[in-house]
Amino acid sequence: MKTFNDSLIQLWKNRYPLFNKVVAMEEVFWVNPAIQPFQTAIKKTSLSELDVKDAEERLQRFAPYIAKAFPETIKTNGIIESPLVKIPAMKQSLENDYRQTILGEVLLKCDSHLPISGSIKARGGIYEVLKFAEKLALEHNLLSFEDDYSIFNSEQFQSFFSKYSIAVGSTGNLGLSIGIIAAKLGFHVTVHMSHDAKQWKKDLLRSKGVHVIEYEADYSKAVESGRIQAEQDPYCYFIDDENSRDLFLGYAVAASRLKKQLEKLQIPVDEEHPLFVYLPCGVGGGPGGVAFGLKLIFKDQVHCFFAEPTHSPCMLLGLMTGLYENISVQDVGLDNLTDADGLAVGRPSGVVARTMEPFISGIFTVSDNQLYKLLKRLADTEGIFLEPSALAGMIGPVLLCRNDSGYLLKDQLMEKIKKGTHIIWATGGSMVPEAVMKEYYQKGLSAKE
Ligand SMILES: *Cc1c(COP(=O)(O)O)cnc(C)c1O
Repeated sequence: MKTFNDSLIQLWKNRYPLFNKVVAMEEVFWVNPAIQPFQTAIKKTSLSELDVKDAEERLQRFAPYIAKAFPETIKTNGIIESPLVKIPAMKQSLENDYRQTILGEVLLKCDSHLPISGSIKARGGIYEVLKFAEKLALEHNLLSFEDDYSIFNSEQFQSFFSKYSIAVGSTGNLGLSIGIIAAKLGFHVTVHMSHDAKQWKKDLLRSKGVHVIEYEADYSKAVESGRIQAEQDPYCYFIDDENSRDLFLGYAVAASRLKKQLEKLQIPVDEEHPLFVYLPCGVGGGPGGVAFGLKLIFKDQVHCFFAEPTHSPCMLLGLMTGLYENISVQDVGLDNLTDADGLAVGRPSGVVARTMEPFISGIFTVSDNQLYKLLKRLADTEGIFLEPSALAGMIGPVLLCRNDSGYLLKDQLMEKIKKGTHIIWATGGSMVPEAVMKEYYQKGLSAKE
């Protein structure tokens, strides 16, 4: 593995004004100089609306199965979707605490409360497993597109899928989503867990018959080991979080669903009403996929920001230096240790970094201390409990509205934002056991001001 010499690091320090702060683990707000107008950016990728539509239709085909296999989704007819809610009390609390007026309305997208696996991974992870299952069933003439997919919920299908296995590397939540759906379909599942993975996530998976292998190393290592083991077994399908087009598209479906939710709340998004979205980022697939879907729909009217822990700013380093996956946080002396386990990733996905570079507006970093403070505040003001990773985007509207962020100075955004909307993407939390959540809340109580 490559590490960088001091002279190269010195060069970056001179070239990129925020580089020093990133390396010193200070919180930063970085505006992406490589962002392009939508019509230019979209020409640089091979992915299109048709790919997202294909994913959306596949999820629709599977809806009867999902409703049967996971009765908690009956009320949404087998569609795995989360609420979009206004959080006025939290907005006020943010304004008071950070002494910063937030222009525009603030909403929370509660992927924390997605059914089946309680995190944003219930989008991409479940989608990729379903797509693989559909492909196998079609190839073996067990299925045609016109069938009622609830036949997947049968002993015949389960025994067929039991000849195959699925493997994945994860810091916790991806393993949870893939483990739950794949085991339900009848696959053998192996989840390679990085040292960050919480005990309750491993316990829950084991209780469902999933084979959990634990590593002392971080996420990149867990993925690599999983990939190597899976390659040796022709009946094993490896879900590659660092390179997966299917995961990305599964996440992207969120956008058309969100559009409908905004319409229902009569919240416009257009030239005069910009939308700002803040997404916690680990390897990049989740936030990248969602942001890509949003860009396809709202184009230059949506502004997407990623949020990362100060100890794991992998996407920020990859984009700032233009090295994408060829730089890790460890290369510049950072430890990749954070309580935001969903974001504890040292090296970004190269595919996502390259695809999203012309689309995203910026990236900011948040300390763990801050995450706990925000966790407690959201619980106190709105009664919503999230896991630490899911709070990373919460500070976004404050940072954006501060004049020194610079972002609002262009395109008359400073005026337009008053009628605009901020959406904080809350990426996980509803499955956290109560005792663990109590500990998180306690940490918020004792967090430094
Ligand atoms: C995985 C995860 C993310 C980030 O998704 P990536 O695809 O890794 O970038 C954010 N929040 C939570 C809670 C997660 O589990």
